[in-house]
Amino acid sequence: MKTDIKALTYEQLNNELSEMSLPKFRTKQIFQWLHKFGCSSFDDMTNISKDLREKLSEKYYISSCAIEDKYESKLDDTVKYLFRLYDGEYIESVVMKYKYGYTICVSSQVGCKMGCTFCASTLAGFKRNLTAGEIESQLHSAQNDLNIKISHIVLMGIGEPLDNFDNVISFLKNVNDENGLNISMRNITLSTCGIVPRIYDLMNLDLQLTLTISLHAPNDEIRSRTMPVNRKYNIDELLTACKAYAKKTGRRVSFEYTLIKGVNDSERDALELASKLSGMLSHVNLIPVNDVEERGNVRGSKQDIIKFQSVLKSKGINATIRRTLGSDINASCGQLRRLKNRGDK
Ligand code: SAH
Repeated sequence: MKTDIKALTYEQLNNELSEMSLPKFRTKQIFQWLHKFGCSSFDDMTNISKDLREKLSEKYYISSCAIEDKYESKLDDTVKYLFRLYDGEYIESVVMKYKYGYTICVSSQVGCKMGCTFCASTLAGFKRNLTAGEIESQLHSAQNDLNIKISHIVLMGIGEPLDNFDNVISFLKNVNDENGLNISMRNITLSTCGIVPRIYDLMNLDLQLTLTISLHAPNDEIRSRTMPVNRKYNIDELLTACKAYAKKTGRRVSFEYTLIKGVNDSERDALELASKLSGMLSHVNLIPVNDVEERGNVRGSKQDIIKFQSVLKSKGINATIRRTLGSDINASCGQLRRLKNRGDK
């Protein structure tokens, strides 16, 4: 079994290459080929001897993402990719253009185990974790295809990043590395459904990234019904972890709240949410639910959403409504992989 060389951090690569008795400058060269230039073949590493390239390819492979399908929004500059991996599995990424630059939303797993009732990613089932190299390859493939430089990353695609902790951390180190894409941690957002012990693990690494929590409910009754993870780690445990995280890292924690008509969007829900978050340095991002065919979740009217926001604000809770990009191309993750697996596309 060969190892994904792109999944190794600089330090790990350096250790492996020194075991092969290679000088230190080789680490830098090879790391730059893999991460800065997104090289997907050892043969393209032109300043490395043929002998060494052969040796490397006997021991390692370089992960990549092939573009299976590409959808360009006619409403905005959003581009969505369906990528095919070496084993025929599919993942999705979305590139969005903002005033401050390009943001990519990447997948961290093939499928998801978390089982949230409103989400498409769970429907097609969990297959496997992505390697750190496969997570990063989404950036390389999109950058090459669009001829752009991506400056921001959100881990909000298919999968639960904290359920693939070690690979996600290696990915973060690699994209942040000055010999790689050199993307600042402050430009990276990691979203989790709330795997509490891993939030503490992340906190202890003291990275300067933004942590955002998919909260989606004001109490355990609703949250356990819609997000099974809550039966293991309830809202109080989750918020205690968030407070500890904010204190240790000095970074404000954000909350995603997808509004589903008749499920979690009443005035009472808004008041209960406000009281749960009071006294905490927080920000709530309200997202109108994207209905996924089989799920039957209904989006409220614009007025319903504005009303929910104003109740939060009246209680001193910072809340914004997420702008929907790429709504004509199924831009929310999980939808394309599901259609592909069902054979609809
Ligand atoms: N597993 C991680 C990363 C996925 S992020 C997490 O749960 O945070 C994707 C975000 O989109 C999450 O906040 C998720 O709850 C939300 N989401 C999933 N399905 C959705 C839908 N149908 N409409 C709106 N938001 C949805």
